[in-house]
Amino acid sequence: MRLYRLSPTELRKLAHPAALVVVLLAAAGCQTHRYASAPPPPTKATQASMTPEDALRKLKEGNARFVAGQPLHRDWPAQRTATAAGQYPFAVILSCLDSRTSVEQVFDLGIGDAFNARVAGNILNDDILGSMEFACGVVGAKLIAVVGHSQCGAIKGACSQVELGHLTGLLKKIEPAVASVTPAVNRSAPAPAEVEAVAEVNVRLVMRQITERSPLLAGLVKEGKVAIVGGMQDLATGQVTFFN
Ligand SMILES: [Zn+2]
Repeated sequence: MRLYRLSPTELRKLAHPAALVVVLLAAAGCQTHRYASAPPPPTKATQASMTPEDALRKLKEGNARFVAGQPLHRDWPAQRTATAAGQYPFAVILSCLDSRTSVEQVFDLGIGDAFNARVAGNILNDDILGSMEFACGVVGAKLIAVVGHSQCGAIKGACSQVELGHLTGLLKKIEPAVASVTPAVNRSAPAPAEVEAVAEVNVRLVMRQITERSPLLAGLVKEGKVAIVGGMQDLATGQVTFFN
């Protein structure tokens, strides 16, 4: 048992029973939060043994841990060492630039688990499509996940027809989603529900564009080697709801 030297302030705080329990547990070497340890990063063998369904299940399990505030404990130096010579990620995820949508946190991922493409409004362009072709066609990822989110500023900007430098061209890529929502979106003052509807349609259109524009990825999907899924992240709860 370690000895602790407490200040008068700390001694006064011990008058609270809960504080006393925490200090006694710490002194006994116990942790008040204990997270399960993460498995090692994917290897060539574990990646090869996974199906697209396995990959989706891992994302769902990771998101459940994120929502619960119970991420796996990760030994980052060990993961770094294990992945230095090669990577065998099980998924490629396209999500928004938004600072609240980092997929490593949202899906509780470690080093080497997933490729991550991020751009405002999780739109598709040739470079991202090429990156997905690399991820699945060359490196062997099993799942393409397109993840939009609530209260997306890019979607709202597209609805409002914002024009600003290079952002103008990016937001034009969301226009087909805005145009296909019925009843028509109020372009001068889009309601939150309208923005949500466009965000979801945008994810569905991007999912469809992936196979329409990439014969390589369409072939992998047809062979059952890769699946494409879409979902929406609720910023308030952290929950990602995947489409059926
Ligand atoms: Zn966004």
